[in-house]
Parts: sequence; C-alpha cells; structure tokens
Amino acid sequence: MTRPRVVVVGSGFAGTFAARTLERALGPEDADLLLISATDHLCYSPLLPEVAAGRLDPRRIAVPLHAVLHRTRTMQAVVDGVDLEARTLTVRHGDAGSEHLAWDRLVLTVGSVTRTFPTPGVAEHALGLKTLAEAQYLHDHVLRQLELADAATDEDERRARMTFVVVGAGYAGTETAAQVQRMTVRQLDRFPRLPAAELRWVLVDSAERVLPELGPRLGRAALRVIRSRGMEVRLGTTIARMTGDRVTLTDGTVLPAHTVLWTVGVTPPPLVEQLGLPVTRGRVRVDEQLRLVEGVWVAGDAAAARDPFSSAGTDYPPTAQHAQRQGVVIGRNVAASLGRGRARRYRHRDLGLVADLGGTAAVARPVRIPLTGLPAKLVTKGYHLMALPAAANRLRVGSDWAVNLVSRPIAAQLGLVDRRAASLTAERLGVAEG
Ligand SMILES: Cc1cc2nc3c(=O)[nH]c(=O)nc-3n(C[C@H](O)[C@H](O)[C@H](O)COP(=O)(O)OP(=O)(O)OC[C@H]3O[C@@H](n4cnc5c(N)ncnc54)[C@H](O)[C@@H]3O)c2cc1C
Repeated sequence: MTRPRVVVVGSGFAGTFAARTLERALGPEDADLLLISATDHLCYSPLLPEVAAGRLDPRRIAVPLHAVLHRTRTMQAVVDGVDLEARTLTVRHGDAGSEHLAWDRLVLTVGSVTRTFPTPGVAEHALGLKTLAEAQYLHDHVLRQLELADAATDEDERRARMTFVVVGAGYAGTETAAQVQRMTVRQLDRFPRLPAAELRWVLVDSAERVLPELGPRLGRAALRVIRSRGMEVRLGTTIARMTGDRVTLTDGTVLPAHTVLWTVGVTPPPLVEQLGLPVTRGRVRVDEQLRLVEGVWVAGDAAAARDPFSSAGTDYPPTAQHAQRQGVVIGRNVAASLGRGRARRYRHRDLGLVADLGGTAAVARPVRIPLTGLPAKLVTKGYHLMALPAAANRLRVGSDWAVNLVSRPIAAQLGLVDRRAASLTAERLGVAEG
C-alpha cells in the first residue's frame, strides 16, 4: 500500500508550522510529507526593517527549513498551478523545467505580495519590503543615494537624492521609515559636505493616523517620536504618480526624489488568483476549520477566515501571529483527516502587536496593555527572540543586538542584490529567491 501524500506549499509562518505539526501528529507510516516553496527558509519578516537599517545581517532572520523540519521532504520550486479536481500541482524547478505532482491532502500557505494599486510608475520605480532581497537592496540603495548626493554638483539633484518617501504608515512602513531614517541621520557624519537640513524623510498615508493596528493612543505616541526626529508625516494623502526621480502626491505636492518605499498593504500571490475561487480582498474564503474544499486547506495571509472576536465581522488580519497559529491548526486538521486526532476550529484572540522605532523608542500593545519607551522596547525585543523558530537564529539575533548597543552597525553597500531580484515584479513571480 502506498502512503497518502500530504503537500504543503509555502515555507512562511503558516506552511512551516503546518509541516512541523504534521511531523508530530503523524507517524512515518501514516503519510509522506512534502513541502514545496520558492525559498529554502522561513523569512522572519517582522525583523526585515532591521535588515534594511543594517542592524541585522539578512541570514539572521532566515530560518533554514532543515533546522525546524526533520522528516518532511523539502523542495525548492515554484508552484504555478493547482488542479483541484485531478489533485495535481504544476511545479516549476527554475530553468530545469516543470513537472506535475499528485497530492492526497494539500495545504496552501503561499502568503502575500505587496499590493500595488494601478498608480502610474509604482510597479516600475517603487521599492517593496516583503523579502530579504528587497530589505538588503533597500539598505544598499539608501546608502548609495547619500554617496550620489555627496557627488552631485547640482543642488536640486543633491536634494532629490537626500529625499526618501515612504508610502504606508502601517507597522511595516512606520518601523522601516523610523529605523532607516535613523540610519541616514547617523551616516551624515561620514559626509561632512551634505547639509543635514536637506535630509528629508516623508511618510505618507491615505488614512488619518499612523500604526492603526496599535490603536489611536500608541499611533499618536509613535507620531510624536518620528516627528521629533525630523520625519515629515503627511496623513490623508498618498501618491498620485511617480517617475524615477519625481513623486506627485494626491494633494498636488511634487517631491523630487529617487527613493519610494511602497508598503500599502498586501494581496495574495498570482497562484491564488489562478484558483478562480471566491475571494475576499484577494484572499481565499475558508471555513472555520480553514478548509477550502475536501482535502485542501489554506492558511495565513492567503486565507480569508472570519474572526469570531471581531465586532465588525472582519477576517483575521494578515499577520505572522495568526499565520503561525493557523499553520498549527491546519497540521492537526490534516492529521485528523488521516485518522489521527480530532479536527478543530481556528479561534485566536489577537495578542496585540509591537513596533520598533529604532534607538530606545518602540510602541507595543501586548495583551491589550499599551506600552511606550523602554518597556515597549524590552517587550518588542523579547517577543521577537521568543517568536524566532530556531535557536541558532535567536542566538545570532540576540548577539547582534548586544553588539549594536556598544558599536554602530557596519554600513556598507554589498551590491549582492540585483535591482530586478528586488523588484515588485519579482515578488509576484516568486523569482526573488527562487
Ligand atoms: C516588513 C514586515 C513586517 C511585519 N511585521 C509583523 C509583525 O510585527 N507582526 C506580525 O504578526 N506580522 C508581521 N508581518 C506580517 C507577517 O510577516 C505575515 O503576516 C506572515 O509572513 C504571513 O505568513 P504566511 O505563512 O501566510 O506567508 P509568508 O510568510 O509570506 O510565506 C509565504 C511562503 O510561500 C512561498 N510561496 C509563495 N508563492 C509560492 C508559489 N507559487 N510556489 C511556491 N512557494 C510559494 C513564499 O516563498 C514563502 O515561503 C510583517 C510583514 C512585513 C513584510
């Protein structure tokens, strides 16, 4: 008798934790476990802003799959198609061609990609921050702009090189803007010819507040911190269009700038569209056991699961906190479908979020308690250390943070990431790290 094949697609929080749970819930004779992902690691994305700010090396937050999975076969490849009736996948192995793979149980955890509205110029010129390649590229790009500003003979060109626009004041945009701006301020002593007053960081959002995920009080606290550091925050506005050296806001302001970081939310990757199933805000609608159809489950950013604790009747937000826990529930539910254990519903009350603003500043709302300053900082750092799934990553992140307390992070452009690999198009095609 052949064993049933359980295939997990995606190695983010949901996929990795689903596979890990399956390893524990099923015996080796119960099923063959296969995880297919474009990357050979889990990217701990909550710390991407620290990579962009040069405070952590990219490898610190790449958790290799072999460090957390022991019995699952892993395959680095891109899934281009799912046939729900024939129960097969089309799997692309880079230049080495494609193959069809059969499955008996399927777990889809393909996460999300940066959402780009049809705003002219964004897809071509804006930078994203969803992958390690993008974070590393952003770091190099920002340092390069300071070099180019220093070399500029024209004042307008110098000012444009020293202007950085961040679109989206959610946690990804606000944390990154705060941390990378701080890096540039600290870099200015390397460039005595650059006028500090010309360094300009502009954070824009169409909403009326920053960090809406953390509530109005902490949003205001974060706003005070970043404004006191010289960040220009423009709320109730966004980008109308952009070119490689000019950004036009919806209020008519024109900002000459060569850098736009675009963090205005996420949408599932093309594979989800390809399924042609009912979606809410692009996410596939699943039931309370995170089931799509018989034998297929979806979790994490790609899944729209109704949040029973939300008074507004919304879906669970696309966060790592939910993706990881949903992965565990899916693992158990797949095992139950193979006769091991009992299926369960996904129910999780949000534990709150943390946002590191660089230096000693942070805001956090663990279990609904609003914190700012040093207590928030300690909670933020402690939370990430606990949440990192592998001891080796925890140790290295912790030691980098300790060294950062006594020594300024090394700021150097390594040029290892090509602009194409860090583009929003590469994110969608799954080729950034594929
Ligand atoms: C900058 C930033 C900061 C964040 N901060 C926080 C935070 O502080 N707290 C929090 O809770 N959340 C945070 N998040 C959100 C969190 O990272 C996501 O909600 C979480 O990663 C979603 O997990 P996932 O498993 O659904 O998808 P992902 O982690 O995105 O993983 C998806 C996986 O699927 C793979 N994949 C995609 N398509 C294919 C395909 N066709 N074939 C094969 N493989 C494929 C990808 O390579 C990847 O391995 C942050 C996100 C960002 C970008």
